[in-house]
Amino acid sequence: MLEIKNLVVQIEDNRILNGLNLTVNDGEVAAIMGPNGSGKSTLSYVIAGKADYEVLDGEILLDGNNVLDMSPDERAAAGLFLAFQYPLEIPGVGTMTFLKACINAQRRTRGEGEISTPDFIRKVNAAADKLEIEKDMLKRALNVGFSGGEKKRMEILQMALLEPKFCVLDETDSGLDIDALRIVSEGVNALRAQGRSFLVITHYQRLLDHIVPDTVHVMSKGLIVKTGGKELALELEKSGYADYRSEAA
Ligand code: ADP
Ligand code: MG
Ligand code: MG
Repeated sequence: MLEIKNLVVQIEDNRILNGLNLTVNDGEVAAIMGPNGSGKSTLSYVIAGKADYEVLDGEILLDGNNVLDMSPDERAAAGLFLAFQYPLEIPGVGTMTFLKACINAQRRTRGEGEISTPDFIRKVNAAADKLEIEKDMLKRALNVGFSGGEKKRMEILQMALLEPKFCVLDETDSGLDIDALRIVSEGVNALRAQGRSFLVITHYQRLLDHIVPDTVHVMSKGLIVKTGGKELALELEKSGYADYRSEAA
C-alpha cells in the first residue's frame, strides 16, 4: 500500500533522512521505533506534506501514486492521515465546525456533496462514544485547554471520521496516562481493517502492548536499520538502541 524508496530529506542544510526504504502492506500495522532525533517525526511530516522539508531524492508511493507530487490536501483526499505528536490548540475554531469542515473538504475533493447536519451529528456522536469523548469537549474550541489524553483522543476521532487508507501515528502515546492509552489503542484497533494500514511511531514499547504490530522497524540516523516481528520491540525494551546507533553510523 505504501512504498518509500530511497527517501533523502534535508531541512536547513541538515540531512535528516538518508535514503530510507520502507514498505507497508495492505492491512498491515507497522511500527517504527527509534531514539530521539532519528528522524521519525520528519518521516511522518514528509509523508503528510509539511512545508520546509526539502526532498532531495526518492519516492513515496501510495497505491502506486507518488504522493510527493500532491499537495497536503490532495494527500488527505487520497487517504493519508497524520495524527500529530503534539496536536495544536486552535482558539476560535469550534471542534464541531472543524470536524465538519474536514469531512466536507474530503467530500469536495472526491466530487461528493456536503454531509447533511443530522448525518454529521450522528456520525460524530457514534465515534465520540467509542472513544469516551465527552459531548462538552465537542462544543469547545479545537484542543483548547484539552488534556494530553483528550487531544490524542481527538486525533483518533478525526481518524475515525475521515476513514483513511493510510494512518501515521506519531508518538501518540506521549503524554497519555494508562487509561487514555487504552482508549486510544482500542480506538485504533477498532479501525484495523483490510484496505487500511498504519504506521505507528513510538519511542517506547508499551504502546505496542496495546496496538500489536505486524512488523517492527528500527530507525536510526535517518535509516531503517532493522526489521522484524513484534518480538523486536520487546528485545529493544531490554537492550535499548545503543547497538543500532553504531549500525547506522
Ligand atoms: P524524532 O521524531 O525521531 O525524535 P525528528 O524527526 O523530530 O526526530 O528530528 C530529527 C532531526 O532533525 C533532529 O536532529 C532534529 O534536531 C532535526 N530537525 C527537526 N526539525 C528541524 C528543523 N525544523 N530545523 C532543523 N533541524 C530540525
Ligand atoms: Mg522526538
Ligand atoms: Mg518525533
